[in-house]
Amino acid sequence: MEIMDGKALAKSIRENLKLEVEELKKQGKIPKLAVILVGNDKASQIYVRNKSKVCMELGIEYEEILLEETIKMQELLDIIDSLNNREDIKGILLQSPIPKHLDINEAFRRIKPEKDIDGFNPVSVGKLCLNQDTFVSCTPFGILKLLEAYGVEIDGKDAVVIGRSNIVGKPMALSLLNKNATVTVCHSHTKNLSEITKKADILVVAIGKKHFVTADMVKTGAVVIDVGINRTDEGLFGDVDFENVKEKASYITPVPGGVGPMTIAMLMTNLVKATKNS
Ligand code: NAD
Repeated sequence: MEIMDGKALAKSIRENLKLEVEELKKQGKIPKLAVILVGNDKASQIYVRNKSKVCMELGIEYEEILLEETIKMQELLDIIDSLNNREDIKGILLQSPIPKHLDINEAFRRIKPEKDIDGFNPVSVGKLCLNQDTFVSCTPFGILKLLEAYGVEIDGKDAVVIGRSNIVGKPMALSLLNKNATVTVCHSHTKNLSEITKKADILVVAIGKKHFVTADMVKTGAVVIDVGINRTDEGLFGDVDFENVKEKASYITPVPGGVGPMTIAMLMTNLVKATKNS
């Protein structure tokens, strides 16, 4: 069994990006990220702070747009429009969740596909579905990079994704399908879940329930990717019962230090790509 070290891989990706950013700057192409944060959600504030730190580390310019909890939808759309129209801004990120009175889908739709580095615009998702070049949602994109870095073959394998969210499960399933895996997507209505997961060569778990996947649900030799982030008083846990599942898996990601660090590295990868394309 080998533990997939997302922290180390993310670090090496960031180091390469730093060099690319220097090159781009020499060509007069300055990467700049705009992050929109609406309201006072504590977790979102942490995520945004982490993104700003990584931008600083890579020499990427960064602008934060902090908006009142009470902002109206039209005002939010106007702000997105103005960022869409600014030449200096190469990527736009709307931190979710946003307050309930706002329509997040409409907001994502408004972000220009060329600047949609999160890959949440329907145009980006549609292109992923059609297996065309696009910005892929950062968590699935990071998982693909991890699989690639560890030489895990995807072509022809049975892949099972638990979770069908728009930001993880669905783009993950599409990405694996585009790499010629036979993909099964499971969710909260799935019957006989463990019968399905036991067939997986590659099992991606994105549910949000601590230690949901136990060793009896996993085939010997499977590659197990744990996306879950479950914060408890005892610490941070994944969706997979790591200690027991690792005895059966051929490769497994830990939590923390697996998928998490890759997500932000891929966001920066997408931003550098958007800058090159601009
Ligand atoms: P979500 O709540 O939007 O989706 C959860 C999915 O799990 C749903 O599709 C649901 O059908 C499925 N599910 C729930 N209970 C189930 C059950 N009993 N059996 C089978 N399926 C079940 O969550 P999300 O945004 O996709 O995130 C999932 C987890 O991944 C969370 O813990 C989140 O914090 C974490 N996450 C991590 C990263 C990262 O960078 N590591 C990024 C995004 C999300």
